[in-house]
Amino acid sequence: MKRHRTVSGAQREDRAAQSLLNKLIRNSLVNNTNQVEVLQRDPNSPLYSVKTFEELRLKPQLLQGVYAMGFNRPSKIQETALPMMLAEPPQNLIAQSQSGTGKTAAFVLAMLSQVNPANKWTQCLCISPTYELALQIGKVVEQMGKFYPEVKLAYAVRGSRLEGGSKIQEQIVIGTPGTMSDWLTKKKAIDPKKIQVFVLDEADVMIAMQGHQDQSIRIQRKLPKECQMLLFSATFEDSVWQFAERVIPDPNIIRLRREEETLDTIKQYYVLCKNKHDKFDALCNIYGAITIAQAMIFCHTRKTAAWLAGRMVAEGHQVALLSGELAVEQRAAVIERFRAGKEKVLITTNVCARGIDVEQVSIVINFDLPLDKDNNPDNETYLHRIGRTGRFGKRGLAINMVDSQQSMAVLRAIEEHFNKKISKLDTDDPDEIE
Ligand code: ADP
Repeated sequence: MKRHRTVSGAQREDRAAQSLLNKLIRNSLVNNTNQVEVLQRDPNSPLYSVKTFEELRLKPQLLQGVYAMGFNRPSKIQETALPMMLAEPPQNLIAQSQSGTGKTAAFVLAMLSQVNPANKWTQCLCISPTYELALQIGKVVEQMGKFYPEVKLAYAVRGSRLEGGSKIQEQIVIGTPGTMSDWLTKKKAIDPKKIQVFVLDEADVMIAMQGHQDQSIRIQRKLPKECQMLLFSATFEDSVWQFAERVIPDPNIIRLRREEETLDTIKQYYVLCKNKHDKFDALCNIYGAITIAQAMIFCHTRKTAAWLAGRMVAEGHQVALLSGELAVEQRAAVIERFRAGKEKVLITTNVCARGIDVEQVSIVINFDLPLDKDNNPDNETYLHRIGRTGRFGKRGLAINMVDSQQSMAVLRAIEEHFNKKISKLDTDDPDEIE
């Protein structure tokens, strides 16, 4: 038996965990000022986009559900995606946009619109990379379908019980590829020929997981030609694209590019130290100045992060530690507390904080400068840690701690890469930070 996981195995799980974490902490749409790009299957057909939910002629129970969720108008991606998904005949769609742009809400609305509750068999299949992510989608189905209780939902996930020989009566089934495939083929609990909508969510996370890609294709092959097929992804590497084209025939394609991050509104400093203890002292000197606002401190390893948090607490400072040892739900709780302002400082590692936006953070401290896996300067991560997006960019402050010739070289490389000056800060005179 293999005892240890390979690094790439851990990274795959990390991706699913990251996605779940984002869902747990997200409570509103992300801002994005970019235009939606559309590639239509039939370029001659007019492109519809809607500015209101009324224009979609939803069932009244669903419109009520949408408004009860507090949605006033369709999100940017929904403006274009919803008319395509709800068209007659329904169209296939590949959609890419970052997490938090309204994809889940869109396909849940499509599934709920297409089902006929009078028919007691499965009509919509939705597959998702993990059990936890499947449950998150289920919650949205329940919320949006609150006034449409005739529509029932089942989960095809590991451990779900299936009565021997019986067919599933729930109109919507959400699950992971393995169990879903099992229910369709071996257990024959779902008749694939009666499926009208097939949703493949988080395709990028899905293909990073062993076997999911093949299982997804196996499921898709069993479905009838006229079944509507929808695929969603937060990113669009070539591998996702190739997979998407294999599973979604004749698709419309829409994508909303991430907003570019910039360093334009950020003041960047570095502090020269001798070693990590010296870095700690420097941090304590500026603690008063940084806690006027909220700060995130990045360390290279979990160990350093834990050490630093321990020292800061011993010094009487209130800090939170976001660590990879915590379960996803616990991590979400730490972020919630920090967001609520219960702590002014959040110490974390890059792995842990990747992809997390805490909007009110205006100070970022690199206790260790970001390095990629080959120990080269990681410009992308640097930008991601401290950059701000376009028009919403508030002013920010970044402080980099340098304690060796190597880290100085990394700093200079980053400075050169972005062609933005990083000035020296004297921490004995924290007034300089203003
Ligand atoms: P994604 O699937 O792209 O990550 P979600 O559908 O989960 O995005 O939406 C992100 C957040 O925005 C959720 O909290 C969701 O309830 C909310 N949301 C989705 N659509 C709308 C809308 N039209 N108006 C307001 N909030 C929305």
